[in-house]
Order: sequence, then C-alpha cells, then structure tokens
Amino acid sequence: MGKVLIIGAGGVGTVVAKKVAMNTDVFTEIMLASRTKSKCDKIASEIKNVQIKTAQVDADNVEELVALFDSFKPELVINVALPYQDLTIMEACLRSSVNYLDTANYEPLDEAKYEYSWQWAYQERFREAGLTAILGCGFDPGVTSVYTAYAAKHHFDEIHYLDIVDCNGGDHHKAFATNFNPEINIREITQKGKYWENGQWIETEPQEIHKGLTYPNIGVRESYLLYHEELESLVKNFPTIKRARFWMTFGQEYLTHLRVMQNIGMTRIDPIMYNGVEIVPIQFLKAVLPNPGDLGENYTGETSIGCRIRGIRDGQEHTYYIWNNCSHEAAYKETGTQGVSYTTGVPATVGAMMFMKGIWRKPGVFNVEEFDPDPFLEEVAKQGLPWHEKHDIDLEL
Ligand code: NDP
Repeated sequence: MGKVLIIGAGGVGTVVAKKVAMNTDVFTEIMLASRTKSKCDKIASEIKNVQIKTAQVDADNVEELVALFDSFKPELVINVALPYQDLTIMEACLRSSVNYLDTANYEPLDEAKYEYSWQWAYQERFREAGLTAILGCGFDPGVTSVYTAYAAKHHFDEIHYLDIVDCNGGDHHKAFATNFNPEINIREITQKGKYWENGQWIETEPQEIHKGLTYPNIGVRESYLLYHEELESLVKNFPTIKRARFWMTFGQEYLTHLRVMQNIGMTRIDPIMYNGVEIVPIQFLKAVLPNPGDLGENYTGETSIGCRIRGIRDGQEHTYYIWNNCSHEAAYKETGTQGVSYTTGVPATVGAMMFMKGIWRKPGVFNVEEFDPDPFLEEVAKQGLPWHEKHDIDLEL
C-alpha cells in the first residue's frame, strides 16, 4: 500500500523494521535510516523475506532529512530515534509532504521537560498541508491511550479515575540496566512525580508515592507514581477524568543504583569539562551501561501493562482493568530484542498500518486516543500483543 521510512536503529527500531517486514501487503517499500548506518545494515541483513534499503541520516539536521525524504519519497515516517529529534523530523515532513508517527513526545536536550505543547503547536501546519501526524504510538504512551479510548467507547459513560500500571516482572540478570535508551529512561525517572486531580497537576518528590500492586501472572510488585506524558493528552481528551495517575514498578536494586548515580552526579544533563573536553555525564553513563537492545538473550519473565479505570456506566459505578502481558523470551525469539522494545515497536508498526490502510488518517496532529481504538486493538492482538479485560473487580487503587 505504501512506502515507509523508519528512523532509528536501536531496540525499538529493530522491532519496527522486523514487524514492518512481516507485513509487506501493507508496506510495499521499506527504508531504515539512522545516525549509524552499520546498525541499519545489520538489522536489514537479519530480514530475509524482503530487501530493506538503509541510509545514514542525522535526524537533528532538517536539510539532511529533507534530502533523504525527497530521494526516497516515503508516504509515512516512523520516528523511533530519540525524543530530541521529534521537531526536526516533523519540520522535514512538512517540507517534503510526508506523514509522521512517533512513540515519545519532544524533549529539549538541556531540560527534562515532558509536554506536548511543542508538537501540538504543529497542528495547523499539518492540517493545512493535509498531512497526518500520529503522536505517542508505543505502549505507554500508545496502547495504554488506546485502551482508555476503548474503555470510554464501550464500557463507560464517564471515566472518573484512571490508573496506568506498568510492571516489568522480567529479569535481565544484570546488576543495572535500563530497558530502553538509558539517557531518556533515567531523565524520566529522576524527575519529580506528577498526577492530575480535580483539574490540576499535583507534584510529588521522585518516588515519593508508592504501593504494592498485584499484576496478572506476576504477583505483587512495589509500584511508584511518576509522571508520564500520556496523562497530559488523556485528561485533555477525556475531560470527565477526575484523577489520572501513572505507576511503574522498580526493584530495590534498581533504585539503589539510581540513587548512587544521582548522588555522585552521573545523571547530570548539563555539560562539564573533562580533560579539556566537554561531556554530559548522563551521556557518558549511557556509553558504559548495557545496550537495551542487547538485553534480550538472557531475559526471563514478563511485562504487564494496562489501565485500571473507575467510572459510571448506566448510572452505576463500574470498574474495569484492561492489560497485556508480554514474555521477554517470546519477544526475543521473534525479533531478537527484549519485551520493552517489542511492546513499543509492535504498536508503532500497527499505528503505521492503521495509517497506510486509511483508518487512522486525518489532517492535523493527533494523539492516538483521538482515533478509533477498535481496528487498532484487533490488529495489535494479531501482531503479538493480545489484551485481556476484567470488569467489576477490586482495582487496589
Ligand atoms: P535506542 O537508544 O536503542 O535507539 C535510538 C536510535 O536512534 C539509535 O539507533 C540512535 O543512533 C538513533 N539516533 C539517535 N540520535 C539520532 C540522530 N540525531 N539522527 C539519527 N538517528 C539518531 O532507543 P530505543 O530504541 O530504546 O528507543 C527509541 C524511542 O522509543 C525513544 O524515543 C524512546 O523514548 C521511545 N520509547 C517509547 C516507549 C513507549 O512505550 N511509548 C517505550 C520505550 C521507548 P545510534 O545508534 O547512532 O546511537
């Protein structure tokens, strides 16, 4: 149906390239481009059923992006590079008349600040150009946002309380590693927590609020309240929500390592001089930590991510839990990557399929919950992330 250009050849890029290549009825021509071309070539060499083109591109550079887009002429760009590149890629999409999809909201390099304002500001320009931009199409944001839209469409007259619960019950057998880009991951976790209540944001200290929650097939895990970007768009798009929170599990070992790294200044995002060279400590830290894309081989256990929702249906209080469990071993067997890359790359591929099929296509900039959730959920289950649901249960929250 159409030509697709994937930007980014990390853990998520690997999964997207492999899943896109499994759906050649939808994606007729595929190119994978990233900063380091050899990484694209390696991924392409592992894909046997179809030939994937590869290219080198610096996605911080709009001119380079425009030149690449104009030569390959994709219909859609799947941006699975880093959040820092969102705006340059969106800018280039407008210049070359290409549609856009990503999995994480823009973040300035020198400030750990998560908000959609920069990307929502492109709304008019994409609308006038007749182009679609789909924001946040990974798992969270992404599938969790679609779960919320599905709950609102089918099971509630009004959603009042939304808790997104993200558990990694897996074990990669390393003393410390992050499951996706370490720099982005550590920036996210070390910032202050924040949740929505009664029309305003309430700020907390990092990891201040936590409690044990029970995850299907995993058991009880300590879960920490933190700010996650989908909360911003969900409370805007579902204004009946009185409280929206995000919880993520962390082991004690992980938190101890993180605290030490923070205390000794290794998570700093401002540049320092080292032997006459300017370095950013967190970028140096990334270089010595395990590569998330390589964790898959010995990873055991499952992730479990979902939405626990309370609201009103037919005048009665109703509770609902919708979730997916993903096995790290199964993800590795299929794509050579661990479950966190898999649970991000599969929804990005499915979002791209929705676009290519004309189901999620309208001029402007949209978060995924603004599209019809039904065809996406049907396809995401077929592509490897089946979902489950329970009604009228104790949500623990
Ligand atoms: P990785 O660090 O493994 O991969 C990032 C890739 O982007 C690398 O190949 C890197 O190149 C490339 N890249 C970085 N800067 C540039 C640039 N300037 N130009 C071109 N390419 C560049 O990250 P992940 O695969 O783990 O994550 C990818 C994205 O997915 C991130 O934005 C992350 O926030 C998001 N994500 C979203 C989730 C969700 O559920 N919504 C969950 C997990 C991740 P090089 O190899 O040269 O460094």
